[in-house]
Amino acid sequence: MREIVVIGGGASGLAVALETKKRGRDVLLIEREEDLGGILNQCIHNGFGLEVFEEEYTGPEYANKYIEEFLKLDIDYHLNTTVLKIEKTNNYFEITMSSKARGIEKIKAKAVVISTGSYERSRGSIIMPGERPYGVITAGSAQRYLNIDGYMVGKRVFILGSGDIGLIMARRMFLEGAKVLGVAEIMPYSNGLTRNIVQCLDDFDIPLYLSHTVTDVKSGESNRLESIVIQKVDENFNPIENTAKVFEVDTLLLSIGLIPDIALLDNLEVVVDSLTKSAKINQAYETSVRGLFICGNSLQVHDLVDNVTLESIRAGKCVSDYLEKKLEKNNESIDIIPGKNVGYVTPQVLDFSWSPKELIISFRGKKKMEKTKIKVFQNNELVFEKFKQFIVPAEMETIKLDYSKLNKFDELGISLEEL
Ligand SMILES: Cc1cc2nc3c(=O)[nH]c(=O)nc-3n(C[C@H](O)[C@H](O)[C@H](O)COP(=O)(O)OP(=O)(O)OC[C@H]3O[C@@H](n4cnc5c(N)ncnc54)[C@H](O)[C@@H]3O)c2cc1C
Repeated sequence: MREIVVIGGGASGLAVALETKKRGRDVLLIEREEDLGGILNQCIHNGFGLEVFEEEYTGPEYANKYIEEFLKLDIDYHLNTTVLKIEKTNNYFEITMSSKARGIEKIKAKAVVISTGSYERSRGSIIMPGERPYGVITAGSAQRYLNIDGYMVGKRVFILGSGDIGLIMARRMFLEGAKVLGVAEIMPYSNGLTRNIVQCLDDFDIPLYLSHTVTDVKSGESNRLESIVIQKVDENFNPIENTAKVFEVDTLLLSIGLIPDIALLDNLEVVVDSLTKSAKINQAYETSVRGLFICGNSLQVHDLVDNVTLESIRAGKCVSDYLEKKLEKNNESIDIIPGKNVGYVTPQVLDFSWSPKELIISFRGKKKMEKTKIKVFQNNELVFEKFKQFIVPAEMETIKLDYSKLNKFDELGISLEEL
């Protein structure tokens, strides 16, 4: 029986494994790819590590910092191994995994950490009229084909969705010699980080069409994409007549959002939050199933890897505490609720069985706001407030609350108010 099994060897899984190992725990990490590092391996642009290292690294450089330490500490791991199923029996977990080298295996663990990252929304998850030709692919898949496999995915490119992956791919395709004709975004603002709008679009004169969406997709005899139509949309996202623009392109990249990958929770009775589309957790990153923890992009989609690392280190500390029986439960808990203008919040539950000095809450605003007060209420009483010049849905916000100011009975509500 292992003490801890960590599933996923990206930034999150590496941080959990390092933290738990440093605390003297027995840990095994399982990764389905042939390398550690996760999504960072395909992110060859820089912009990683500013918060943790105060220096800018590429994705692989950032990953290597942790991989080197991981190897030095001699942590057990399996590569090329996919976890298929997790079941809970009595007080332990049974994990079924599959690999070419060893076939199907089962192992037992006292605690499991899900660090399986996120997956991209694809064409099927939005309503896009038109034909179904080759050449319409997600931006992350295109990034992988180009940066890892070495295939150029197209010559005349348009991008739907202004999430960070789309913006980064606009620049990448441009630098590889493709003609990038534009980026369409259905919202009246971009969903990417401001620095990515400037460095990936403005610097290369790539137009951004806000409040626009793709309303037709056409192909030729070869069934390869030949053109798309975009149209301006009204406040209800309905296309406006006489605003159609046609672009002759062979590739349409979709950057329309990431969703936490929680497929492995299917066999467990985990309470899921419809807002994060992942498990509800308490402040120890523990799900509603005892001993099952979750962090990184499988908990909530992060814009910065630094936050993934910091969150996963905290989760690693909590898993170690759980095994040292420092996280026993006494059923005193309250809910943390997203209020006005807040899209979601983690953790969703505050458990008073144990009380570290600070409670760290992450959330995202629902819309772009200026001169905003973040307010936290308990029983109509203000327990925290903080001024923020800008709130944008693309950026995750984090606040720290002092436990001593909270009562153990009333839910906590977080809201955003424009001044
Ligand atoms: C395209 C892109 C650009 C980005 N750009 C920036 C940037 O410029 N700056 C920045 O700070 N951040 C950036 N980020 C964000 C940051 O890189 C990610 O948030 C972070 O790396 C996610 O780490 P993770 O470990 O949670 O997930 P991942 O890196 O996705 O790792 C999850 C791992 O789990 C493995 N896995 C999944 N299921 C199983 C299973 N069943 N069995 C075994 N293994 C499994 C996967 O193979 C994967 O390796 C970017 C993200 C993307 C996608």
